Amino acid sequence: MDFAPIKKDTARLAVLPNLLEYEKCCESFSWDTVRLELDGLPDGRGLNMAHEAVDRHAAGPLRQRIAIRWLGKGGAVVDLSYGALREQSSRFANVLAALGVAGGDRVFCLAGRIPELYIAALGTLKNRSVFCPLFSAFGPEPICQRMVRGDAKVLVTTERQYAKKVAGVLDRLPLLSFVLLTDAESHQSDRIRSLPRLMAEASDEFTIPPTSPDDMAILHFTSGTTGMPKGAVHVHNAVLTHYLTGKYVLDLHPDDIFWCTADPGWVTGTSYGIIAPMTHGITSIIDEADFDAERWYHILEEQRVTVWYTAPTAIRMLMRAPDDQRRRFDLSRLRLVHSVGEPLNPEAVLWGEKVLGLPIHDNWWQTETGGIMIANYASQEIRPGSMGRPLPGIEAAIIRRGDGDTVELIGEPDVEGELALKPGWPSMFREYLHDEERYRKCFVGGWYITGDLARRDRDGYFWFVGRSDDIIKTAGHMVGPFEVESTLMEHPAVAEAGVIGKPEPVIGELVKAFVVLKDGFTPSEELRLELIGFGRSRLGSAVAPKEIDFIDNLPKTRSGKIMRRLLKARELGLPEGDTSTMEGGETS
Ligand code: ATP
Ligand code: MG
Repeated sequence: MDFAPIKKDTARLAVLPNLLEYEKCCESFSWDTVRLELDGLPDGRGLNMAHEAVDRHAAGPLRQRIAIRWLGKGGAVVDLSYGALREQSSRFANVLAALGVAGGDRVFCLAGRIPELYIAALGTLKNRSVFCPLFSAFGPEPICQRMVRGDAKVLVTTERQYAKKVAGVLDRLPLLSFVLLTDAESHQSDRIRSLPRLMAEASDEFTIPPTSPDDMAILHFTSGTTGMPKGAVHVHNAVLTHYLTGKYVLDLHPDDIFWCTADPGWVTGTSYGIIAPMTHGITSIIDEADFDAERWYHILEEQRVTVWYTAPTAIRMLMRAPDDQRRRFDLSRLRLVHSVGEPLNPEAVLWGEKVLGLPIHDNWWQTETGGIMIANYASQEIRPGSMGRPLPGIEAAIIRRGDGDTVELIGEPDVEGELALKPGWPSMFREYLHDEERYRKCFVGGWYITGDLARRDRDGYFWFVGRSDDIIKTAGHMVGPFEVESTLMEHPAVAEAGVIGKPEPVIGELVKAFVVLKDGFTPSEELRLELIGFGRSRLGSAVAPKEIDFIDNLPKTRSGKIMRRLLKARELGLPEGDTSTMEGGETS
């Protein structure tokens, strides 16, 4: 079903958006101008992310401004001003330098969302070492594998995580010189040290060494939705994209209170949970606890959050909670809601309007792109179901591959093809660590091929169709699971759906849906037939699911993405492949 566009009247918005004239801005855009809005290291010594995020604010009028307000699971609140964060991260940088940890060395972090993680991230960048976050709920095997693949030299973690997950695999990590325990009072050995001790002995003054914009800064593993996670390498220059998307997409203004709900174990939690908001000198909320509808509404109200960046999975969970729960909270401060990570069903955009009083702005990017590439903007109309238009400075296209190294650009609107980006934006990944060939294969005919399929309408809005790996080929048609899932979600009984292609000898694959029902609905043959009829009437028989199974929960990555490859493997009785990033496994 087509949904009417949500128009914007900029005169009625609480704050005038930073990006008002989209087309004009795209035309006159230059990354050099963006660079001029940043500081650069003193005396022309280069560009360092941590300097742009913290030190330059700490040296000026924002010194006392809260950079991070940390909300602990048990109710504790810790505020870190830009000044304090500068000192703490400088201490950490001095700790690394004193241990002989050099520029380019990998510093892994395995911790929940605790203040030490943020301090370590920024201190690592200051020392020109490479920050490599690990999601804290990983078990020993995925942790060890990633540290081996990433050549870990240092690990920052808690005593508990260390004892439970790392101590047993230490002998498989000969390159790991130091484990720094965030909560140990004393050193256990030369290799296993107390971080508080080292921090207490270190100076809070640190001069960032000359940093090239092309120096490696962050190593991020992808989400593993489609297979083995890949290690994407990012450089300090990525801060240009972080800053620009903070300005144009998140629309950050000096007095904003910003909350990015993602964990730094995933790229969103680093690019937008740490760097981007700090480059704008604003206050970020960090919540240590996991999703809970009541807690989240409470935080939005109590912390007077103005700009909120979350994910479709969280929005769908809020949609499952009763609307009157939301009504008990005053969300009048909230002015912008953004979402990333998965396609945002049109139903969810409209739910935002109805229940939050604000439409949800979807945006698209990947671990590989380092920052937001396609987005809905505060000043521009939203077309529900569309991920929006390219960021000024980003050239996106729909392409078809030709022979060898050639691609054909699809000019006509509304034609599906591969989503590609013109390489060269500042936060583009520079390699897949130790996998040169895979990296090379991503670039064809002068384009970066994203691995997603999409179409572009005549006004330049991009519409997600599916991941290349998830596309269903049925009776000569190409069917994107997202369209089928979104349609099923329009039925009042459906909370979530995951759709796969099931091999079938005559038509190639048949469309099969796994459906999670909303509270108050129970699976029955009658409901199954009703949903099949519902799908057919809206999608037509070629695209509608022919089989529907009810399921209690969809398999998801820990960052909340539906793992269709797992639904498929289970359906076909095949091996499940890498499940290290799957939700519901080992926990911290
Ligand atoms: P892996 O590459 O290991 O299989 P992954 O692709 O899920 O995992 P990420 O880099 O975290 O790892 O996710 C990027 C992908 O998420 C995109 O390529 C796209 O498929 C999906 N995605 C992100 N945002 C959106 C969005 N707004 N709409 C649709 N899909 C999105
Ligand atoms: Mg991917």
